[in-house]
Amino acid sequence: MSNGLVGVNIVNLREFGKGNYKQLDDYAFGSGGVLFAAPQLKSALEFAMSNPSVSFQDREVDRKPFVIFPSPQGVLISQELIESLAAHEHVIIFCGHYEGIDERFIEKYVDLEISIGDCVLTGGEIPAMLIVDAMSRLVPGVVGKNNAVIEDSFYRGMLDNPNYTRPYSWEGLEVPEVLLSGNKNEISKWRRREAVERTLIRRPDLISRASIREYLSDGIKIAIFVENVEDENFNLSGVSELCKAYDLGRFYVIAKNRELREKIKISYPEAKILGNFAKVIEDDINKNLLIVKVFEKARRNSLHSLEVKRRCLEHKGRILFVFSENENRLEELNIQGLSSFMYDENMNVPLNIKIGITLDRFLGRR
Ligand code: SAM
Repeated sequence: MSNGLVGVNIVNLREFGKGNYKQLDDYAFGSGGVLFAAPQLKSALEFAMSNPSVSFQDREVDRKPFVIFPSPQGVLISQELIESLAAHEHVIIFCGHYEGIDERFIEKYVDLEISIGDCVLTGGEIPAMLIVDAMSRLVPGVVGKNNAVIEDSFYRGMLDNPNYTRPYSWEGLEVPEVLLSGNKNEISKWRRREAVERTLIRRPDLISRASIREYLSDGIKIAIFVENVEDENFNLSGVSELCKAYDLGRFYVIAKNRELREKIKISYPEAKILGNFAKVIEDDINKNLLIVKVFEKARRNSLHSLEVKRRCLEHKGRILFVFSENENRLEELNIQGLSSFMYDENMNVPLNIKIGITLDRFLGRR
């Protein structure tokens, strides 16, 4: 690139061929096909390693190049993979042809084989271009507006919303009114909702990896039933930190016993401490709550956390996750809502860890 943000060198493998014919390929043992031979590839690799496309000068960077071989047998390309590759300063991509390349070269020198899909192309050039293009647009400054990349499909694990430009009316179809309203808040809500609907219909498989935080209609709150603070594992300070990190606001603590409430108030002033669950509902009465009781192990009628994640996205209102140290008590509670389980085994981890795992499942990016 002329602005020096990304540099691409094309190395002609032929220059490393053997003999008068600059031979690169040879017959594959045991089959009739031909493939690139390892010694010639090694010479090309040594050349590419010592001739990076941009000068690192004295920059403190990891100079060891990351070597990629595009191959239909590789890991399937994804935005997450591209993000990891873009973190490397120097990447070398070997393009195969014919039957590919000698397996021993892959074993010794290739860090990763990448497939661009379940189809077979004649050579690795198009996959290489695809990888370079997708990596380049993650380099700061390559795409004009940084937000443009963040708003793209897959960046947050979800598909992008539909986009429109002028003319306003075309062949009987009009641009959705909200986009012309100038109301940033409403436009942002519309875009998120469209993205959710598209993802749920076209690629529901993406939901498991996506952070759904920015796509919920009215956010998530946490409520925790507490019976006993004397338990040595009892510690909610991690929960305060998590609520801050995920921008969830104050969390509810429900304790029947007044003395207990006073104790909790002193240790956790950031919590909203209430005597019963009805008060939580009252507090959020206008929010069209979807209540999710969270268990470690599958219970009667409980749903896998992935299914609950999907339902949270479909819900038009606020989500309330309810936890308790004593899960049996939680099951007995007559609360209308869904039950979710996180992993089908007893992890026996303290409550704040359980809450951390749950929030990561729903709000963290995979
Ligand atoms: N015999 C190989 C196999 O079945 O795995 C296919 C070789 S293909 C005809 C030639 C080259 O094209 C490969 O070595 C690879 O570099 C590239 N290629 C073909 N399909 C690809 C895909 N889906 N993803 C990445 N690279 C591919």
